[in-house]
Amino acid sequence: MPHVDAWGHQMEANRAHRAAPAQPAPPSTAAVPAPAVAPVVPLPRPHDGAVTVPGHGRTLLRQVRRVQEEAVRHNRTSVLVAMSVGNATEIADVLGAEVLGTVTSVLAQRMLGLAHEVHLLAVSPLGGALAAIVCDRADRATLGDAVQEVCAGFVTTTHARVWPVVTVGLRGLDGQAPERALEEARRTVFDTDRRSPGGVRWFDPEGAEHPAARALSLTGDLAETLGRPDEQLSLAYQPVRDLRTGRITAVEALLRWRHPVHGPVAPTDAIAVAEASGLIHPLGQWVLDRALRQASAWWRSHRYVTVHVNVSPVELRSSAYAAAVARALSLHDLPPTALLLELTETDLMIGDREVRRTLEDLRALGVRLGIDDFGAGWSSIGQLLDLPVDTVKVDRSLVARIDHSPADLDLLRAVLGLLETAPVEVVVEGVENEAQAAILRTLSVRLVQGYHLGRPVPAHELSLGGGSGAAGRVG
Ligand code: C2E
Ligand code: MG
Ligand code: MG
Repeated sequence: MPHVDAWGHQMEANRAHRAAPAQPAPPSTAAVPAPAVAPVVPLPRPHDGAVTVPGHGRTLLRQVRRVQEEAVRHNRTSVLVAMSVGNATEIADVLGAEVLGTVTSVLAQRMLGLAHEVHLLAVSPLGGALAAIVCDRADRATLGDAVQEVCAGFVTTTHARVWPVVTVGLRGLDGQAPERALEEARRTVFDTDRRSPGGVRWFDPEGAEHPAARALSLTGDLAETLGRPDEQLSLAYQPVRDLRTGRITAVEALLRWRHPVHGPVAPTDAIAVAEASGLIHPLGQWVLDRALRQASAWWRSHRYVTVHVNVSPVELRSSAYAAAVARALSLHDLPPTALLLELTETDLMIGDREVRRTLEDLRALGVRLGIDDFGAGWSSIGQLLDLPVDTVKVDRSLVARIDHSPADLDLLRAVLGLLETAPVEVVVEGVENEAQAAILRTLSVRLVQGYHLGRPVPAHELSLGGGSGAAGRVG
């Protein structure tokens, strides 16, 4: 019989280790008309924004403590097992939330069929269950596999026959603070679900800075920051120079985010979080606006430098993007040639019809386009150059070792040879020392970017000369 505690929450314990050993539940093919285990304490998924034990925590903590004490009393081990339905979203989308609730309940019940002492702590209608398990130390290592085995098989409801993908996260309870262990068990299963649905993982104390949790909190922080962007966000500008004259021919605007707790956030992390959350649209617009505002200030003082702005494929998929660029240019009273959009992650853009439409609209507007990180991805050069672009930035990985590796130099030479046949301007990025710069001169490379020629700095630290094309000599 399920035990219902004072808070009205259900807690079940099987006594399988004392009774006859329970057999793993056979794959269920019988129709299950209604949830067999009523949903109790909901386990929030990460996008619910909860990272602590939910409201009913006190009861949960008491239950966990009882399990820990029991394990100690019997000289056994206790483990928190979080189970998540890896294909929960698909089940809910296709078959409905009710079917997902039923599937979860059936799985939770199957967990009770384990040949260990299982205390079912919570079942979430969103596709998760949490149990505290007491077992012999010898059985610990195989516990996760045992959970998957006992849960395996179709779940047949009156409406559907579903194959649930069962993901398992485990967190040892011996000597652990229950609150923290609960949080860690939940994090482990969420992370496993995200990276490898259907996997089994133990909590890894090394991975304490949990990527999903960090991404989640960064998403919230970025959303807040975008309400007052100038407090934490800024742009750094890195020059692109003519290798022969040292003149600055363009500057690249690079996002900087100084987080009040974490300090500087790597732009690649910020962009990844923004892309995953849709915040890339307001963020990209903010970057574009600030970069053009700066360009406008330079142009008004006769420093006619082209500003490069990085743009993500997610932005280019929006049908409103080209019009937003046109508006921003007109707002800052700049001709389209003042702007060059660098297409990052170009591999993702090949064959994408929405992206191509936006690129064509941008070209029609007169905005220049460039491929970034050329040579870093997997796509063929021919496919990449099929994109309507004016410039190509050769990735720094092709440059990093040219001063001491003949093979790397051969590769760079081959890539440059191929680009020679295309009607594009070539910029080589990541030039870090004079030896590399000297080699690039012998290869007739004209435009370069890299720490050796100027690091990304705030606009006021960049010395652009006056007149047409900006000055500023190398070294
Ligand atoms: P990217 O567009 O390829 O920018 C060049 C990156 O290489 C910058 O890193 C720059 O600081 C770094 N770098 C420049 N010269 C050297 C060098 O000589 N050696 C080495 N090791 N690195 C060099 P950062 O600022 O960390 O930006 C990383 C990436 O984040 C950028 O790569 C770009 O893809 C993305 N990103 C930055 N800002 C934005 C933005 O506003 N929007 C979008 N969509 N992406 C952005
Ligand atoms: Mg770039
Ligand atoms: Mg690049």
